[in-house]
Amino acid sequence: MNNQAYDVAVVGSGAAGLTAACVAASMGQKVVVIEQSPYVGGTSAISGGMLWIPGHPYLAQNGLKDSPQNVRQYLENFIAKPFDARMEAFLAHCSPALQYLEKHTHLRTRPVTGYPDYYSELDGASIGCRVLEPEPFDGKLLGKHFHLLRAPLPEFMVFGGMMVSRQDIPLLRKARQGKSLTAVFNAASLVFEYLTQRIFHPRGTRLYLGNALVARLFKSALDLNIDFLLNASAKEIIFDSGNITGIIVKEDNNDKKINVAKGVILATGGLSHDHTLRNQYFSEIDSFKSATISRGDSLSGAKIAMMANAKISDNGKNGVFGVPLSHYVRPDGSEVYYPHTVTDRSKPGLIAVNAVGRRFTNEARSYHDFYYSQLE
Ligand SMILES: Cc1cc2nc3c(=O)[nH]c(=O)nc-3n(C[C@H](O)[C@H](O)[C@H](O)COP(=O)(O)OP(=O)(O)OC[C@H]3O[C@@H](n4cnc5c(N)ncnc54)[C@H](O)[C@@H]3O)c2cc1C
Repeated sequence: MNNQAYDVAVVGSGAAGLTAACVAASMGQKVVVIEQSPYVGGTSAISGGMLWIPGHPYLAQNGLKDSPQNVRQYLENFIAKPFDARMEAFLAHCSPALQYLEKHTHLRTRPVTGYPDYYSELDGASIGCRVLEPEPFDGKLLGKHFHLLRAPLPEFMVFGGMMVSRQDIPLLRKARQGKSLTAVFNAASLVFEYLTQRIFHPRGTRLYLGNALVARLFKSALDLNIDFLLNASAKEIIFDSGNITGIIVKEDNNDKKINVAKGVILATGGLSHDHTLRNQYFSEIDSFKSATISRGDSLSGAKIAMMANAKISDNGKNGVFGVPLSHYVRPDGSEVYYPHTVTDRSKPGLIAVNAVGRRFTNEARSYHDFYYSQLE
């Protein structure tokens, strides 16, 4: 960081920030990413990394069918018409944006054919052609930067650091039951590969899900010569005659100014940890628990933007992505908020009951709806 002048400063190193940074750099801009934590990746790195991209480029290649009319019909079931400009922009540009990223960065995705829309019973819904997942990534390609990539939740790994794909799970289960020699052999080779990775790395280097998504974007950012300023919290945007000219960041308890010629992009991951704004906009939720990574005492991007006179639109209920959480303490004393997203609640034998032992919802509903029935 000898040069403190950039075209663009991006605050936040999650999927949103890294995407913005890579796109700007791919267009020839000099970019810095400012990240308050010592790690790159934010909540994106611990997430499922699934992308909902209707009309994505792999439909025909994979024998899948969809149409823009179906997508609109589906969304109109629960989003008021006319769609606002951001929704129209999403529908028009999500697929071209993905194609741009796959051309100019290391991002590679593939359809998850068995992943239905969250309201699969509604008109226009798909039972499995709109969701994409990142292709697995070899973390070794990040070289000495691998240790800067935020690790997934320990609960999402086995043997203290091995990520498993959706395909590996039944294989490992079969191998454990000793029912198939092929499964035992394949599981043994997975574990062997993992053990060899651990000789030189703090965890397995075969990455899936959100970790692969972030690793792919991080690798792209490094190749595009984007600078990273870690352990640095953005505090305030600087204006000169109405133009944004820089940003103040706190690093090692000192404030420093980063000049920008073109702009600042705030990609700090929502309001979950901003108690004041959460209270103000989503007051029906009386707890401040969150499955997203903590931002420590850094300001939320929303607050930074509001200090620069931005306004937050009132999205109401749909501004929240709720998820049922289990809160517990690990044997090492660390606290965990474990989100029950898609792999457990809907399984046979699971019945969700309230405090008086009554079943209160359909356990297989999307986690957003499940969460609202918890609130009720
Ligand atoms: C377990 C789990 C699974 C999920 N699965 C999916 C899924 O499959 N598909 C999906 O679409 N969504 C999923 N989500 C939601 C998704 O992860 C988030 O919506 C997404 O990661 C947000 O990305 P982001 O880049 O906006 O923010 P983040 O990834 O959170 O990145 C924000 C970054 O900004 C940094 N930051 C914040 N404030 C400052 C500051 N003042 N200065 C400097 N840095 C700052 C933070 O440290 C963080 O690194 C999941 C979430 C969880 C918890």
